[in-house]
Amino acid sequence: GQPLVVDEVGMTYGSGESAHEVLRGLSLRVDPGEFVCIVGPSGAGKTTLLRCLSGLLRPTAGSVRIGEQPVTQPLAEIAVVFQDYRGSLMPWMRVRDNVAFPLEGMGVKKAERLERAQQSLEAVGLGDVGHKYPWQLSGGMQQRVAIARAIAYRSPILLMDEPFGSVDAQARFDLEDLALRLRRELDITVVVVTHDIDEAVYLSDRVVVVAGTPTSVVDDLTIDLGPE
Ligand code: ADP
Ligand code: ADP
Repeated sequence: GQPLVVDEVGMTYGSGESAHEVLRGLSLRVDPGEFVCIVGPSGAGKTTLLRCLSGLLRPTAGSVRIGEQPVTQPLAEIAVVFQDYRGSLMPWMRVRDNVAFPLEGMGVKKAERLERAQQSLEAVGLGDVGHKYPWQLSGGMQQRVAIARAIAYRSPILLMDEPFGSVDAQARFDLEDLALRLRRELDITVVVVTHDIDEAVYLSDRVVVVAGTPTSVVDDLTIDLGPE
């Protein structure tokens, strides 16, 4: 695997009078197999950073790379899960088709698309709901479907933006454990944006705190848990 490298990234929305600088001089490196959480106050630019990492947004300064390969557009190597599963699943498609259809764009044949969809659904504990429609499932289950769709790509890097923010507490615990299990079983790199520091510490090998411009990055935040 290759590291995900963020090199002196800056992002300014708009221009002239309405220019709004969100990130400046942000550098970061995520090694293959790491599980990193990005935390920071609301408005610090976490979502902006994740969109830059995914290639959905071109930073206005600096670069994002996988090893030496620049990330300037969405790539097969990087899968993304968004907070809003409601907006990301197609309500008129069965669950299995929601997971399978993006693979068509990668040139995967139909039989293999359906097989991979089924495998991915099984990996997230939803092997028996492929025939249902998203709206027949709970919020937590719908977010699992979105995760299944992301892992069906078999990308070595999985990015998630507040993935567990819109579900109830029990579903959140289940999804957190799913994320940890997938990381172990699939040997992938995972980057999760969250505003929940407890969740970040629970999930990740390394917590990265993003705040202000110039963007200060507190890397490898060590939490003193106090006396045992
Ligand atoms: P958090 O990441 O802390 O959950 P949000 O992503 O919901 O917070 O939003 C952070 C701030 O960014 C909010 O003030 C929101 O209104 C603003 N925001 C989000 N998207 C846009 C956008 N496309 N244009 C302008 N402001 C936005
Ligand atoms: P966070 O995820 O840390 O809450 P965001 O990356 O969502 O932060 O937003 C950072 C800042 O950028 C916020 O002030 C938000 O209003 C602004 N912003 C986000 N998206 C846009 C956009 N498309 N156009 C203009 N401003 C935006």
